[in-house]
Amino acid sequence: MDLGITGKRAIVCAASKGLGRGCAEALAAAGVDLVINARTQETLETTAEELRTTHGVSVTVVAGDIATEAGQEALLKAGEGADILVNNAGGPPPGMWSEWTRDDFIKALDANMLAPIAMMKGVLPGMIDRGWGRVVNITSQSVKAPIPVLGLSNSARAGLTGYVAGTSRQVAQHGVNINNLLPGIHATDRAIALDGGVSKQQGISVEQAKAQREATIPARRYGTAAEFGAMCAFLCSQHAGFIVGQNILLDGGGVNSTL
Ligand code: NAP
Repeated sequence: MDLGITGKRAIVCAASKGLGRGCAEALAAAGVDLVINARTQETLETTAEELRTTHGVSVTVVAGDIATEAGQEALLKAGEGADILVNNAGGPPPGMWSEWTRDDFIKALDANMLAPIAMMKGVLPGMIDRGWGRVVNITSQSVKAPIPVLGLSNSARAGLTGYVAGTSRQVAQHGVNINNLLPGIHATDRAIALDGGVSKQQGISVEQAKAQREATIPARRYGTAAEFGAMCAFLCSQHAGFIVGQNILLDGGGVNSTL
C-alpha cells in the first residue's frame, strides 16, 4: 500500500532502538525524511546510518534526553516544519506503590507525559497552519489494563491519554490527527530487562521468565518492532485522516476485554 507520505518530514523521539526505531524504520521505508533522537550519540549515529543506507532518506540525529527542556528544544529546532511526530521515551522502572517518592513521580511525568505534551505543543501550530499533520504517541497496554509493578508508568501514561483525548478533538478540524499506540509485550531491550527482573525475583532463568510471559499472550509470542512500526506508519499515512484520538492496542490479544 502506498502510504502517500513520501517526502514528508518526521521527528521520531527515542528512536535508536526498540519500538521507536521500528517506527523510524517504517516511516523511512515510506520515503519520509527523519530527525531521530536518543541519549546515546553512538547508537543513534549507527541507527541513522543504517536507515540512510537502507531507505535512501535524509536522517538528522539529535542526541539528548527527551525528558529535558533542552532535549525537547534541540529536537524541535532540528525538526522545524515537521509533518509527523512520534513521541516516545524509556519507560519508568518497576517497583512497589509504597516506595515511590514525589521525585520518582516527577521523573515519570517528565518522560512519559510532559515531554510528549511539550513536543506536541511545539509542532501543532505549524501543522495546523499547513493543514496537515500526524502525531503518534507510544504509550502502553497499561493504559487499558494496569500492570501493578509499573505504577509510575500507569499513572504518567493515564495523564497523557487524557490530554490526547481532548486535544486530538481540538486539532482534527485542521487535518491534524493525534492517536496513541499501546504496545503489549514486544521483543526489545525493555522486554529483556523486565524478563531479567522476573528471573531474579522468582529464581528462574530469563528463558523461563520469557516462556512464562509468552504463555499469557493469546498469540503466544512477543510482538516485533517491525509490526509496531508498520502500524505507526499507517497512522501517519494519508489513509488515517479519519482516525482521531484513538488508543490502539498492539498486544497479541494480551488485554482480555471485549471492547
Ligand atoms: P528500548 O528497546 O529500551 O528502547 C528505548 C529507546 O529509547 C532507545 O533508543 C533509548 O536510547 C531511547 N531512550 C530512552 N530514554 C530516553 C530519553 N529519556 N530520551 C531520549 N531517548 C531515550 O524500549 P522499548 O521497548 O522500545 O520501549 C519504548 C517505550 O514503549 C517505553 O516507554 C516502554 O515503557 C514502552 N513499552 C514497551 C513495551 C515492550 O514490551 N517493549 C511494552 C509496553 C510499553 P538511549 O538509551 O540511548 O537514550
